[in-house]
Amino acid sequence: MSNLRPQRFDDLIGQDEIIQNLKISVKSAMVRRDTLSHCLFYGGAGLGKTTLARALANELNVPIEIANGASLSTSKDVLPYLMKMTRGSIFFIDEIHRVSKKVQEYLLTVIEDFRLDIVIPASKNSQGETINIDIPKFCFVGATTEMGDLVQPFLDRFKLKHFIRTYSVEELSELVSINAKKIKVDISEESVKIISKISRGVPRLANNFLEWLRDYGVANGLRNLSSEQVTKAIKMQGIDENGLNPIDRKYLEVLINLPKGTHIGVNTLCSALSLDRQTIEQKIEPYLMQQGYVNRTSKGRVLIRGLVTPS
Ligand code: ADP
Repeated sequence: MSNLRPQRFDDLIGQDEIIQNLKISVKSAMVRRDTLSHCLFYGGAGLGKTTLARALANELNVPIEIANGASLSTSKDVLPYLMKMTRGSIFFIDEIHRVSKKVQEYLLTVIEDFRLDIVIPASKNSQGETINIDIPKFCFVGATTEMGDLVQPFLDRFKLKHFIRTYSVEELSELVSINAKKIKVDISEESVKIISKISRGVPRLANNFLEWLRDYGVANGLRNLSSEQVTKAIKMQGIDENGLNPIDRKYLEVLINLPKGTHIGVNTLCSALSLDRQTIEQKIEPYLMQQGYVNRTSKGRVLIRGLVTPS
């Protein structure tokens, strides 16, 4: 999907306020010949946090080093990246909430004073010691879906914090139209709307659907896809016209089968769906609540509106 990733701010769709703000920060840093302040992007998966970090590097015309938080559990894991930093360059950590607390604490001085504390362990001939190395002033960029998991002093080091919101159907329609041409998927305006509507406000999902439609067309020898064919191809993936997947529908069916207004505890839902609590609370419920299907109360979950069409 990398060829669908916008490279510069002006190629990005939506997030206008963030782009306006970042343009000011970038311009100021460039005019002052200084390093951009540390920057945190937070928001759901697939909304463009990595894309923004890469575009930021392109706008600043600086190199970017990319790491994933899950792979940084000790200071040794993070050192190779820090050693590569040059003045103004970007160190980007995706899923930064997965960086261990130990590394978060280690990074506090690094990103504040641009100084590395390296511990030389004691050996036969020498006592152990800590040496300090100054490194160039770099820009630290983090992306996270779980901002609350970052320790407060670490969070405070990010002067620029930007919340990446989901995209409107209109914004996604623009994205789908542009990207359909890029990957040569010939679809109607109506199909563009269908895809935008089921993509839950998430560019990555819209791009995934487009790639599936391309594969569907190629596999079936179709040069262009009618809206009926698009609907059929999407149904094949278990997605309905409201963008609900089979697990969402199963979740709703559990509630639909209860007497109206019944509240149900999350543990009962876990058993009914054979899923863990985290998956239910973090992956399934946010979209269902956002779309007004379900409400979470102190008494449990309650259905607000059922499925328009049966699965
Ligand atoms: P995240 O890092 O938030 O999980 P990504 O930056 O990897 O999300 O974005 C997922 C995909 O969605 C990218 O490959 C990119 O093509 C597309 N995308 C994200 N945001 C935008 C945007 N604002 N405009 C156009 N495409 C976008």
